[in-house]
Amino acid sequence: MPSTPGRADLLVSGISTLYTLDATAHPDEEGLGRLHDVSVAFKDGELWWLGPAAHAPDADEIIDGEGLIGLPGLVDPHTHAVWAGSRADEFSRRLSGVPYAQILEEGGGIHSTVAATRRAPRDELAEAARARLAGLRSHGVTTVEVKSGYGLDPATELRLLRVAADLNDTVRVVPTFLGAHTIPAEWRGDRAAYVRQIIDEQLPLVAAHADFIDVYCDRGAFTLDEAVAILSAGKAAGLRIKAHAEQVAHTGIAAAAAALGATSVEHLERLDAAGVEALAQHGVVAVLLPGAQLYLRDVAPPVAALREAGVPIALGTDLNPGSAPVHDPWAVATLATLIQGLTVAEAVRGLTLHAARALALPDRGWLGPGSAADLALFAPPPGEPPRVDALVQHLGGHRVAHLVMHGERVLG
Ligand SMILES: [Zn+2]
Repeated sequence: MPSTPGRADLLVSGISTLYTLDATAHPDEEGLGRLHDVSVAFKDGELWWLGPAAHAPDADEIIDGEGLIGLPGLVDPHTHAVWAGSRADEFSRRLSGVPYAQILEEGGGIHSTVAATRRAPRDELAEAARARLAGLRSHGVTTVEVKSGYGLDPATELRLLRVAADLNDTVRVVPTFLGAHTIPAEWRGDRAAYVRQIIDEQLPLVAAHADFIDVYCDRGAFTLDEAVAILSAGKAAGLRIKAHAEQVAHTGIAAAAAALGATSVEHLERLDAAGVEALAQHGVVAVLLPGAQLYLRDVAPPVAALREAGVPIALGTDLNPGSAPVHDPWAVATLATLIQGLTVAEAVRGLTLHAARALALPDRGWLGPGSAADLALFAPPPGEPPRVDALVQHLGGHRVAHLVMHGERVLG
């Protein structure tokens, strides 16, 4: 068969199993756009050609895809990756039965992370966060949402968002402003004043440095009224909306955020039927965080109801120093199947297509002409076939053989 005319910069040749996530162009029974023995060519930083290996164009550089699983670069739509300090001691205390409320009372938990982050020099923050994002990249992730939220004052929130933006050379970073992560200790006596500070001081300072605004609306965090006021102000400042929703207690924020035009709502362990309905009606993505569910020994979100209503389900690591110190999206996919009831195909869409939708990025999470030029190639766990169900079944054991970002080889 003739090869395609023209010359690519980079050709990934003869990929054993490629999941394009474009179920329209490449229909299969799982809806993952599965193809066999295909090649993908990149030119001028773009995905230029995708088709049968036998028709592939010539290229300056060739990667052999035999025995490998190809997927679009994974998307992690929910991380708190910029922090200082460690809460490993808190983990041991909680295992021995000390309640989190008591740890908070003593200035631990999120308060200790805020204190350490405010003190940390910018270089130290950036170095640790860069290593965390490089860790996600080593599992095939090429786009990461990074929240602020451990500064909780105007200058530190801005600093965290600037640190996140500087990491854009490691992965593609989507910055989210989360000044409403918790009421900082010094404002506990006047929470209304802190809400005003978020809206009147933090937001104007950071709006140009973030794509999204997020709020932690829950028992012990922000009330529904406070959350709606903060999200509305963010929307007026031109930011897209996310919310930590219905995790510890049901507040109604999922439906309220949906009505405000939210792109996604996240956690959702206590989402009710009206909330599911609101997400479906407004086309909001449900971002599930099974790592947090596991660490908090919590209940699962209502996956069957979300599925029934046709709500797109995405998965995030929630990478943070306390409730979800989770660095591996494939472990998240495995947990999502085992403790939340997702199918393998739903988990894979959750790491790719739907995660990209949770960040309002239509060019990510799938592969084909017009998609971002990000391709991850995985070697399956030893002795396993090159199929995505082997990646999800095994907790670890896989390896990123090659990673292409912006049409260039960055790993392998
Ligand atoms: Zn979170």
